[in-house]
Amino acid sequence: MSRVAIVTGGTRGIGAAISKALKAEGYKVAATYAGNDEAAAKFKAETGVNVYKWDVSSYDACVTGIAQVVADLGPVEVLVNNAGITRDGMLHKMTPEQWYAVINTNLNSLFNMCRPVIEGMRERSFGRIVNISSINGQKGQMGQTNYSAAKAGDIGFTKALAQENAAKGVTVNVICPGYINTEMVQAVPKDVLEKAIIPQIPVRRLGEPEEIARAVVFLASDAAGFITGSTLSANGGQYMS
Ligand code: NDP
Repeated sequence: MSRVAIVTGGTRGIGAAISKALKAEGYKVAATYAGNDEAAAKFKAETGVNVYKWDVSSYDACVTGIAQVVADLGPVEVLVNNAGITRDGMLHKMTPEQWYAVINTNLNSLFNMCRPVIEGMRERSFGRIVNISSINGQKGQMGQTNYSAAKAGDIGFTKALAQENAAKGVTVNVICPGYINTEMVQAVPKDVLEKAIIPQIPVRRLGEPEEIARAVVFLASDAAGFITGSTLSANGGQYMS
């Protein structure tokens, strides 16, 4: 019996690698996205993964979108909260719009997505929730008070939800990637990457999206049933907490 997995932001970057890896393991995957129809259509054509468009910062949109996934594929057994954005700026210049956009998309989305699926997971005595935080939620980052606060919030959310659901067969874990070779990081000038960023990473390279995806596949598996509330750093040794 193949399980149903939702990957938010599952059509590009790290999320696309997660969607593909879960599909390769036999899951029925629903990959969500926000607005980039072209990338989503290309991803669907290349992979055959079902794509769904809704805004994870809206609770009502999540309730409606998840109901559609359940109607199409069946009850949600694996949820990967991966969708995220940056709106960087020093706090003394940050606008309320920058602050709320990041908090709503990167933190409130965890409530919006988990709340509609958690009761079903508890009733069925099985569930796997994997949240994608960031190294910058662990250590803080200049110019990212909004992002660091949201990503640190994801870690606290994970630990609390893990405690609430451990006895019900539902595990909740969080992965904190470091610098991963996605479009976002590829946009950084080559010399900045080579002179300023990669020297800070002890393994001396960027991470690949597939390296995060493999960790998700493991945490989603039956074999990971004793692991809950854990924070997995995947950052090439850049920050050890
Ligand atoms: P990308 O920008 O490559 O992809 C983001 C995905 O999230 C897209 O599919 C996008 O949809 C979707 N998305 C964004 N906002 C929303 C929204 N409001 N509702 C629904 N979907 C949304 O991101 P990355 O792959 O680089 O990052 C993925 C996650 O990993 C993020 O949470 C990020 O913070 C985290 N991370 C990334 C690191 C990196 O080095 N790349 C390092 C540490 C953490 P659309 O295509 O429509 O825009």
